[in-house]
Amino acid sequence: MPTKPAKPDRKGASSTSAAAVSAGIERRGLLMVLSSPSGAGKTTLAHRLVQSDKHIAMSISVTTRTARPGEADGVDYFFISDDEFNRKRDLGELLEWAAVFDHHYGTPKKPVMDALADGHDVLFDIDWQGAQQLNEQLPHDLVRVFILPPDGKTLERRLNSRAQDLPEVVAKRMRKASAEISHWPEYDYVIVNRDIDESHANLRAILTAERLKRRRQLGLMQFVRRITDQL
Ligand code: 5GP
Repeated sequence: MPTKPAKPDRKGASSTSAAAVSAGIERRGLLMVLSSPSGAGKTTLAHRLVQSDKHIAMSISVTTRTARPGEADGVDYFFISDDEFNRKRDLGELLEWAAVFDHHYGTPKKPVMDALADGHDVLFDIDWQGAQQLNEQLPHDLVRVFILPPDGKTLERRLNSRAQDLPEVVAKRMRKASAEISHWPEYDYVIVNRDIDESHANLRAILTAERLKRRRQLGLMQFVRRITDQL
């Protein structure tokens, strides 16, 4: 499955992924969702996580919005037309989808289902609507993490410093921020992003613990039988 910043690595890592993260024990992958208001540092954290861990890959969404400077098709998003989006949605090719800031966004289904079955983890940078839909469809595979800014002023400053967005877009995002924040209780974990290194370490700790959940280690029965046979 492709990743945003580390596509070549991901391919190389995929065949050993399941074994490497669970001592050779067959496992089912997990889906980690990161949500936050715009400007809380979610995208930076997501990139840091996939760069520091070869066993988790970023889901690449489709969107009907146009690419911002520096964004590439097939890397940050698949940029598609409204017609193409509607076609994919109607054919059931999207695992979840939502309208955010006047555009449509959705998660292609097949790469996610393939990754799960192969014991690979997938990271999602999607909003609360997407997290709710994933929870309806794949509750046992889902780990939901909400990223909060340390305070309102910091969020405002971060939004204003995004030069590529027009002032009216920034204003709209500020209005939407409190609506997005109101969904924090629907998440399994909450990280207050005061310091990016600390938040990254916390995210890694969550990932490590979730990978060790008994139900994800499908090969445990076999593994334990081998041990007891040796006794
Ligand atoms: P942006 O346009 O700034 O890249 O993203 C705007 C918002 O859409 C962000 O909150 C992002 O998490 C969310 N988003 C991006 N892709 C998806 C998706 O596939 N599904 C959903 N539900 N939200 C998405």
